[in-house]
Amino acid sequence: MPITAVVLTGNEKPHTPIALQPVIDYAYFVLHYRLNSAVVQRTMSRKYFCIPAYFNTLKGTFNFRIVSTAFIALTLALCLASCSQIKSRPELIAVTSTAAAPIDLGLATSESPLVEDIIHVTPIPIVSAEIDSPIADETSSQDLSISVEDIQLFPISTIISGDRVTIQIQPYVPESVTVENVPVEIYIDDQPVVNDTLDQRNWEGNAEGIYEWVWDTSGLVSKHEIRVILDSQDVIQEGDADPTNNEATITFRVGKAMERPLEERNASWITAETDCCYVHAITRTAAYRDFPELLTMVDSAISEASNQLGVFPEEKINLYFIERTIGQGGYAGTEMVIVYNDRPFIGGELYELLVHESVHIIDRQFAPQRTKFLAEGVAVWAAGGHYQKQDLQKRAATLLAMNKFIPLAELANNFYPAQHEIGYLEAGAFVDYLVSEYGWPDVREFYSNTSASDGDTEAEALDVNLRHYFKASLAELEAAWLAELQTYSLNDEDIADLRTTIRYYDTARDYQKIYDPTAYFRTAWLPHPDEVIEFGNAADFLRQPDTETNFTMELMLRSAYDAIAKGDTNRANVLLDSIERFLSQNGTADPLVTSYQDIVHTVVAFGYEPQNITLDGESAEVLATTASGNRLLNLDLNIQRGDWILLSN
Ligand SMILES: [Zn+2]
Repeated sequence: MPITAVVLTGNEKPHTPIALQPVIDYAYFVLHYRLNSAVVQRTMSRKYFCIPAYFNTLKGTFNFRIVSTAFIALTLALCLASCSQIKSRPELIAVTSTAAAPIDLGLATSESPLVEDIIHVTPIPIVSAEIDSPIADETSSQDLSISVEDIQLFPISTIISGDRVTIQIQPYVPESVTVENVPVEIYIDDQPVVNDTLDQRNWEGNAEGIYEWVWDTSGLVSKHEIRVILDSQDVIQEGDADPTNNEATITFRVGKAMERPLEERNASWITAETDCCYVHAITRTAAYRDFPELLTMVDSAISEASNQLGVFPEEKINLYFIERTIGQGGYAGTEMVIVYNDRPFIGGELYELLVHESVHIIDRQFAPQRTKFLAEGVAVWAAGGHYQKQDLQKRAATLLAMNKFIPLAELANNFYPAQHEIGYLEAGAFVDYLVSEYGWPDVREFYSNTSASDGDTEAEALDVNLRHYFKASLAELEAAWLAELQTYSLNDEDIADLRTTIRYYDTARDYQKIYDPTAYFRTAWLPHPDEVIEFGNAADFLRQPDTETNFTMELMLRSAYDAIAKGDTNRANVLLDSIERFLSQNGTADPLVTSYQDIVHTVVAFGYEPQNITLDGESAEVLATTASGNRLLNLDLNIQRGDWILLSN
């Protein structure tokens, strides 16, 4: 795919020293893409010498934050492992994930609301375990309150001089209180930086306020104090029984600029224009290294999505590859954010993820009011599967045989709370069934004109439109479909694969909740990439927890994923057993975890970051990078006298 131009866009911080990186970037692109050097020189100049001075005039101001938050809420779609949307974020669609990693959700158990006009419905066991109930807050009283655990700073996990800090708070707010009516004041070292309200309830059901890039830490190396006060004027009477617990203070340290990781120093965005898209990546990342291959893949994926839908993008799509694993692989709205790194521990295949997310962007052209259930169903169908190409009907038949099938009306009404893999698979397989019965042109017409407002519930809206377009109710179509699914002959491997796949994703999300909670899709901060470039930090999309425990768990999860992909569900389940024990028993390591820990410790001691481990008895192959670069190296280790020894590097 032709690269018609490569543009370097400014994300440089005023404090960053101008060093050799511009020269390196310039040489890289001239060598790789033979670009128009005038364009490069001009944009390089912008990048390295222009200072977004107006940021200082905006930071912490009320209007800036409102506009920023509103824009994100309206445009981003949480991708997660296959995309999702959330109740208080109406336009967010979660992605599914992969090669690098997206996300998804939970479950729902409720009774099927369809009671009328049911000719015959095959009894379907309802699996209550497949539906998450809202998390009961420990303060399940009628009392507004906040504690230090409710305050999160970005970038994670440490703040370094020069970072522009985003503050996320998730206080307890009784259901009876309107979140947007809760006043918030935030002070840093007694200086006001936020005077606003909470924003919304997130997908977890928690009240949330996100105040983006409100504090520039340049030159402020030392300890600091952040004080958050809710409802200081005591305007909330109902739902705030104890006004004395509406304040929390945390202290933290701003580190020296020299503590900034190498990959963040002089980090900047590059952009390539392809046939379909403007593709963006950050220098020194895995995406930057693999940019040529990624550009080809992006064009292919958009082309496949367009051909499947019979609709082509009206304008070029902006796609951002990021290093940090957020959710299950990224998020998408009018633009796409895709996780791409060397240790993808949650998600499916990158190509299918790109097709899936592309569908979410393209279908806005003809189905702007689409419902969540159908939007995800169409995306899974168009991508030919969830996470990878698969026989959707056989997969759905397997789900039915496992007694994990969620009745469609129930699923349509609780789509994002439903267990992610089950919900997406069912939605995709049902759309696939409709297409096989009626053809895509008619299904597309139905899809384009079905909106949640067509009924009191999404299931009713679905039912009304199915009757109109196909002369059959949801219950009738579901019954006919299930009858077909029951004719499939399945073997033990089919069931083991699906069961292990679902378990793998649930385990990966459990890991995030404990060891990387800000990446967990239901509570994650999903900044708009344009704004990160303009107002934020490259670190917002780069930095992630990097302890040896993080490496160990992520490598084991990746090993489990690879085992499933090879059809070795036994090996995958052994790994998942170990991971789950570690997570549920507060870090208790069994011999398998210990082996991974020892290998990680050995390679880290030599200055490497492990990206993949292939463990075979007393030997191991490790794919690793170094702190100074993104080149992948193969390392060999084996056990000698009880210790893992690095044989070659
Ligand atoms: Zn999706």
